[in-house]
Amino acid sequence: MRFLREIIGHEQIVTALTNAVAGERVAHAYLFTGPEGVGKETTALAFVRALMCSRPVRGDACGKCRECRQVESRNHPDLNLLQPSGASIKIDQIRSVLRLVSYKSYQGGRKVYLIRQAESMTAEAANCLLMTLEEPPEDTVFILLSSRPRALLPTVLSRCQQYYFKKIPVAGLIDNLVSRHGFTDKDARLYAALSDGSLGRALAYTAGTFQEDRKLVLELAEALSKAGLVEAMETAEKISVSKERALVVLEILACWYRDLLVLREAGTGAVLFNRDRAEVLAGSAERFETGRLVAIIEGIEATRSKIEANANTRLAMEALFLQLAGSEFKE
Ligand SMILES: [Zn+2]
Repeated sequence: MRFLREIIGHEQIVTALTNAVAGERVAHAYLFTGPEGVGKETTALAFVRALMCSRPVRGDACGKCRECRQVESRNHPDLNLLQPSGASIKIDQIRSVLRLVSYKSYQGGRKVYLIRQAESMTAEAANCLLMTLEEPPEDTVFILLSSRPRALLPTVLSRCQQYYFKKIPVAGLIDNLVSRHGFTDKDARLYAALSDGSLGRALAYTAGTFQEDRKLVLELAEALSKAGLVEAMETAEKISVSKERALVVLEILACWYRDLLVLREAGTGAVLFNRDRAEVLAGSAERFETGRLVAIIEGIEATRSKIEANANTRLAMEALFLQLAGSEFKE
């Protein structure tokens, strides 16, 4: 679990949060917005620890006190975590965590409510929360996380202090991966590009089956451009077993086609994400028209938005793979 001072890429937000804790000017409700995977939750948990720490140091958690340890193991009786049960956060869930909201905290410090995917609250749930936000009890802090804040009730939005988390610029991420995590420059470049501004995701890629997945997906990309409709549908089914996996596949594909586009535009001097595959890329680039590559990249982005907004993963991937099938020049 990280401290606020260890968060990278969101310095202004971290400064505002630590100043609030140090100056005892903590708001009753916060809303952290921004794309998936850029550090909203990591920052929120670090903030929770700073809020609950009994001996904060310059607005950040001490990491040693009982409260810090309890938050770290998610065992603090005054910390309430809430997330969708099924597709939404229901009114019963909100009611049950707010049951004791007007009472004093168990341990004498703050009561903190962290709500993940806040946009998934049903209208009844949001209205129930709103009543508390309108008359917040003392020493109570709500932190709402959402990548789709427009789906939240405006009346809830207006009660929250809002922070927007931007993607971490690729250059900053590469620096961090090299200097703090010991990556080679080549690997850092690839992972930074693939992770789309998320340090957490970049680090996750180095573990598990990511390298094998990438090999598989790139072979598929090569094969697909020559494939027919039936093969395209089969491929889509094979690799869209889950939302998370589909999003990784889309990142790999997006970087691949971006490289092809850059090669077509800038020629051999281009800086590539997939440097280890420069030769395959060069051969492939000659077989695509620029306009076609632009359309494919837009198609990949549109598919990602749909899946992030909880569209049916398999259907969305099928539509994309139909677009990708037979995408080379016809001779
Ligand atoms: Zn502490």
